[in-house]
Amino acid sequence: MSTTGVDVLRVPQDDLFWQDNYEPVTETDAELLRIVEGADLPALLAALAAATGDTSALSPELRPPLTPVDTVNHPHGGMSEDQQDRGRQLALAGLRRLRDERITSVDTLPGAVVTSILEYLANGHRDWIGMLKHELDLAPDKGGAPGWQYDDVAPDRPFSVLIVGSGVAGIAAAYRFAQAGVPFTIIEAGECLGGTWQKNRYPGVRLDTPTFGYSYSFAQRPDWPHQFAEGHEIREYLETVARKAGLSERIEFGSRLVRAEWDEAAGMWVATTRTRDGAERTRRFNAVVSATGQLDIPNIPDFPGRDSFTGVAMHSQNWDESVDWRGKRVAVIGTGASAYQIVPAIVDDVESMVVFQRSAPWMLPAPAYHEGMTDTFAWLVRKVPHYAQWFRLWVTLLGIPGRFHTVRAEEDWPAAPLSVSQKNQEVRDELVYRLAEQFAGHPELLRHAVPGYPPGAKRMLRDNGVWARALTAEQTQLETSPIREFTPGGIVTEDGTEHNVDIVIYATGFRPSEYLEGITIVGREGREIHDFWQGDARAYNGVTVPGFPNFFMVYGPNVGGVVAGSLHFMLERASEYSLKAVREVLERRVTALDVKPAALDRFVEWVDQENRRMAWGQPYVRTWYQNGCGRVSQIWPFTNVEYWNVTESVRPEDYDFLP
Ligand code: NAP
Repeated sequence: MSTTGVDVLRVPQDDLFWQDNYEPVTETDAELLRIVEGADLPALLAALAAATGDTSALSPELRPPLTPVDTVNHPHGGMSEDQQDRGRQLALAGLRRLRDERITSVDTLPGAVVTSILEYLANGHRDWIGMLKHELDLAPDKGGAPGWQYDDVAPDRPFSVLIVGSGVAGIAAAYRFAQAGVPFTIIEAGECLGGTWQKNRYPGVRLDTPTFGYSYSFAQRPDWPHQFAEGHEIREYLETVARKAGLSERIEFGSRLVRAEWDEAAGMWVATTRTRDGAERTRRFNAVVSATGQLDIPNIPDFPGRDSFTGVAMHSQNWDESVDWRGKRVAVIGTGASAYQIVPAIVDDVESMVVFQRSAPWMLPAPAYHEGMTDTFAWLVRKVPHYAQWFRLWVTLLGIPGRFHTVRAEEDWPAAPLSVSQKNQEVRDELVYRLAEQFAGHPELLRHAVPGYPPGAKRMLRDNGVWARALTAEQTQLETSPIREFTPGGIVTEDGTEHNVDIVIYATGFRPSEYLEGITIVGREGREIHDFWQGDARAYNGVTVPGFPNFFMVYGPNVGGVVAGSLHFMLERASEYSLKAVREVLERRVTALDVKPAALDRFVEWVDQENRRMAWGQPYVRTWYQNGCGRVSQIWPFTNVEYWNVTESVRPEDYDFLP
């Protein structure tokens, strides 16, 4: 508790899952060799260097080359056979040291050791190091936690913040504000925390990016059971994080923000919240942090006759757990990430399945998509201090360049609209070859399974063969004729076919570009935010909007990554940037800050220019990454490192400070 009575969150090493002691290594050399053979070498060498304090083995010749990943990760970051052989010998020696010297813990590392290990892992990319430290729990200067306290900066000034939402973004924001001891109220429209992972409970729901790249830098869970976490595992993780951080009991559930209006005279936001039973409450806050999510409002196409259907109809996000699909005739509309998980999960138990496809998805091979972490991995997590954290860092590091090189468009590329560059065409060829294998003996299905747009132009899915298996199943029909109308008994397509079904599942996605839909935000001079945006949501650094002082968006426009980067990193940085802005307001003893329109325009132009060079920015591509104006309003087209850079400080020249 601080002198002002505000709870301050203090966490050692800024990791809620920090572990002091590990089990001792007791295995024989032969057993250790087997462990080494099943380990990810760069992560293991880094962990051993940290645990023993000896970085001498991490010589430049042994650096993983970080060979660009076209489709499937290269083992050990592309290390050559010779590098791997030498790396294994060094790893074995390191494990023996842990055993013989009974090393079972590691403390925060000296800065020089951190730099040396990170330079090794990053193959000399010195410009990545600041961002990587943010992700390394052993670094003495992570740079994520605020290095200041509200109590010290503005002990006598009443200040309060409204945080809207308790999903992945809202928890990140609340965690950072709690660390600084800034007073806040956090509200959640639903009855539970966890946002998208609370709502999406359809059969088969799981992460479709690697688990270890999907967690907070301040909550580095080491013992994830699956390579691609199941939905409930992420939900439970978020609940644990909130509980450990003391946030769970602070969330005001069942409280929806319906309106926030800036009171210029008072320099405060007047926020109206509404409970489920319609009761409204009005409160004043100095700042508002909006963390309402992007993929939240279901898109349910307005098919003619939709409401005449007498069977069960539900959107993937609003799965009715009382509905039993077993032995039923089921229709799934859509072939995006949600359908891709639902269809294989239920296909074996339905009487018939019809999948309505408007465009086919691209899928990246992911053989381990449904697999658990290996026994070797579990051993390393138990016995090598902070191995899981190094592995998480390694996965995050590989995500910096990600697969950007496969989606950058070449000017006047002749094979457009099927590909955007030579590399993109190579990826296309590889994936088509794979589809041909999967749909062997089904030429008609294969024809429909090959997308008619470039790889990466829409979000790519992770595939271990289950999609093709589901589509080629005897009870499945892939329908590519557009939907004409619904009838009481089912769906009729343009070619006149009637599909009589019992259950219709809308896996038709969301309305991601309708930021703050359903909430009225009135800023300076009475201007409403949607009137300002005119259907084209824009925010400086994805966070601040001109005319809306002390209003911060976490997961706002243009900060989503699709072929590279960590989502949690982006959300944490947006939270940290918002907190830095609050600090500016407090330190300068001003009422608020308001981003300048010119700063926003410059930011948007910068981002737009790069998005136009990407597969998803081509004029012939249609994807949810674009808004109704045709601008790519969802996607951050740079690496995490650029976002680290732009969110390092609040540039005073970009803001007006209101007295
Ligand atoms: P989505 O990717 O937007 O897919 C919607 C599907 O519905 C597409 O196939 C789309 O066709 C089709 N569709 C939309 N309107 C239609 C219409 N009027 N008629 C016929 N078909 C129509 O939505 P989603 O699958 O729910 O996924 C959305 C995002 O959520 C993903 O991209 C991902 O970021 C996230 N997500 C993540 C996970 C995960 O991590 N495990 C799982 C699910 C979702 P077109 O392609 O032709 O537009």
